[in-house]
Amino acid sequence: MKVVSSIIQMRKITRTLAADRKKIGLVPTMGFLHEGHLSLIRRAVRFSDIVIVSIFVNPAQFAPDEDFEAYPRDEKNDINKIKSTGGDIVFIPKVSDIYPDNFQTYVDVEIIAKSLEGKSRPLHFRGVTTIVAKLFNITRPDIAVFGLKDYQQAIVIRQMTRDLGLPIKIIIAPTVREKDGLAMSSRNCYFNPEQRKEAVCLYESLRIAKRAVKDEKIIDSAVLKGRMIKLIQSICPTAEIDYIAFTDFESIIPVKKVNKNTICSLAVKIHGVRLIDNMKMTGRGQLL
Ligand code: AMP
Repeated sequence: MKVVSSIIQMRKITRTLAADRKKIGLVPTMGFLHEGHLSLIRRAVRFSDIVIVSIFVNPAQFAPDEDFEAYPRDEKNDINKIKSTGGDIVFIPKVSDIYPDNFQTYVDVEIIAKSLEGKSRPLHFRGVTTIVAKLFNITRPDIAVFGLKDYQQAIVIRQMTRDLGLPIKIIIAPTVREKDGLAMSSRNCYFNPEQRKEAVCLYESLRIAKRAVKDEKIIDSAVLKGRMIKLIQSICPTAEIDYIAFTDFESIIPVKKVNKNTICSLAVKIHGVRLIDNMKMTGRGQLL
């Protein structure tokens, strides 16, 4: 397995791979890898000949008051995990190479990037789409794998890929959860054991909403949201709910009545740590 940090070297490698007609898969990450990331790498291994995993904590997607500096990093461990999961190349570019002096061009997806996460974190998706566009341009993948955990991000990237006419298939992989249901996240390491227990309230609230749809045939989003808020507050009384939204999966347009294309997404601050999660409100899966 190769570890590459130079953009020029990365380009050379991918050009050679393309000339050899190798199918390239890309898994962009910010590192501090967990089983969720590794599941994306496994999927990329299944669908491509060569898998590139990028590690880049992207300053452009963090607001000044967010945790860019504190974001957990462990490159050595990450490289070992990628190697044992079947990755072929780890690409770790430098911030100063990605954003050189006088950098001033961004990729900005309009409508679907402005609600939910985009509303709470106004420049976040502009940072995400810019770095992903740059990574696509440097690594020239045939496929790229993203997690459903960051559902809106995956939809926004798919839109960008279509709009810019990039010949890349975007694969969205299911959310990997801890035993109690908490979605795996690099940020979970911020919790002490007591706080960590309370963090399960995001998953539990999604689960009771899905249950209510299935068992009680409740489809009114406002009623479901009321139940979710109550449950979150009962598990974590200090939780700060940023949003709970029932939207159409593809368009991210809010829906008053749940239907088969509805996904519920939420963002909640648990003891100062902002977590997100989501769940399709009908169908199989994610309902213990
Ligand atoms: P991050 O390192 O947080 O930027 O995440 C890199 C990629 O891993 C993104 O496509 C995320 O959606 C995905 N990811 C993060 N957590 C999970 C998880 N628990 N299950 C599946 N994918 C995940």
